[in-house]
Amino acid sequence: MKKITIIIPAYNEEESLPYLYKRLQKLMDDNKGYEFEILFVNDGSKDKTIELIKEYRKEDQRISYVDFSRNFGKEIAMMAGLDYATGDAVIFMDADLQDPPELIPELIKWWEEGYDDVYARRKSRKGETWLKKFTSKMYYKVLQSLTKVEIQRDTGDFRLLDKRCVNALRKMRETQRCSKSMFSWIGYKKKEVLYDRDPRIAGKTKWNYKRLVDLAIDGITSFTTSPLRISTYLCIPTFLVLFIYFIYVICKMILVTNKIDAYQAIILLILFFSGIQILLFGIIGEYLGRIFNETKNRPLYLVNEYNGIREENE
Ligand code: UDP
Ligand code: MG
Repeated sequence: MKKITIIIPAYNEEESLPYLYKRLQKLMDDNKGYEFEILFVNDGSKDKTIELIKEYRKEDQRISYVDFSRNFGKEIAMMAGLDYATGDAVIFMDADLQDPPELIPELIKWWEEGYDDVYARRKSRKGETWLKKFTSKMYYKVLQSLTKVEIQRDTGDFRLLDKRCVNALRKMRETQRCSKSMFSWIGYKKKEVLYDRDPRIAGKTKWNYKRLVDLAIDGITSFTTSPLRISTYLCIPTFLVLFIYFIYVICKMILVTNKIDAYQAIILLILFFSGIQILLFGIIGEYLGRIFNETKNRPLYLVNEYNGIREENE
């Protein structure tokens, strides 16, 4: 029997978990042809999330969990899920039931037909603000314009990945993670499935705009070095202008006035160029920070316990 691991990152989800558990039980009962493993990654929740998961595991051995030593963020939680998954395929799902479990049989169906990466694309996004929809649309546009690898639109992390995609992703251990672009990067045979994204069942969203902007910047800079090229593009015209202006001032000085009267212009130029320099330093700093993080070579996460077994970190 083929085994399917459903990876669910959970951070302060005590309110959603009972609903989720019920829906998942139904899913597993309706699909007896597969062995399921439900792998929760408790991302340092401060509420009763882990206690609930442990209770579920007592009742049902198909439930597994990885308990982080603190909150590491959803991207890292997903990575841990990949590391601990034992299935022939994995499915990523949010704990708040925004990704309906009822779609899973369809994902599996396409996997059986030979697709490696079956991703669910949102038809609608209920319960999300106009601003969030707009910003996410713009983000996809920008990300796509920066890279040749095709990015899937309106696609979250809800997807099924074949074992070989899982193995590929396990090798990608960078610290600044943007799984969306990593799913695109690995390639393989992809299949799109449409669905309606539901509003969160209970609890509050963990995302605020600062986190989203951070994620967007991480996404772009971890995926492509094209922003570095801004410096080249900006430098060429500025040096051209500088050069022409320089010639003009020299010529005027020698041929006409015999003295420099471009005092104000020079001040303006200084401001202009220091502005550009600050911008470029910002970009360089952005990448330097990444190199710094990468070279520290730390583990991506620390596990407190896995299925009740204390992790000793040896
Ligand atoms: N999540 C997590 N760690 C975090 C933040 C969120 O594991 O630091 C999980 C959360 O429990 C949920 C999923 O990521 O299962 C999506 O989070 P949320 O629903 O808050 O985001 P949204 O759907 O609003 O984008
Ligand atoms: Mg959500």
